[in-house]
Amino acid sequence: MAKKSNWGQCIKCKWWQVEPAAELASTTYGLCIEQSLQPYQLRVSGSSGCGLFVEGEPARAEGSGACPPTAQATR
Ligand code: SF4
Repeated sequence: MAKKSNWGQCIKCKWWQVEPAAELASTTYGLCIEQSLQPYQLRVSGSSGCGLFVEGEPARAEGSGACPPTAQATR
């Protein structure tokens, strides 16, 4: 039986958090702030994706694109 998945790309996900002035692009990197993934400080590009995708406007905060990310989750 196929597993139910809501796979989608970070670029259109409400859990993607990028730098305040970052362009929303497949090559832009930001922090994933989905609650269950927050402990991992997962840094993902616009073309990354996963099954926890929720369509929405990405959030913005200083330090979201740093290595490792230094921003706090804003959602
Ligand atoms: S890794 Fe998944 S939950 Fe996180 S921003 Fe990308 S699509 Fe959304």
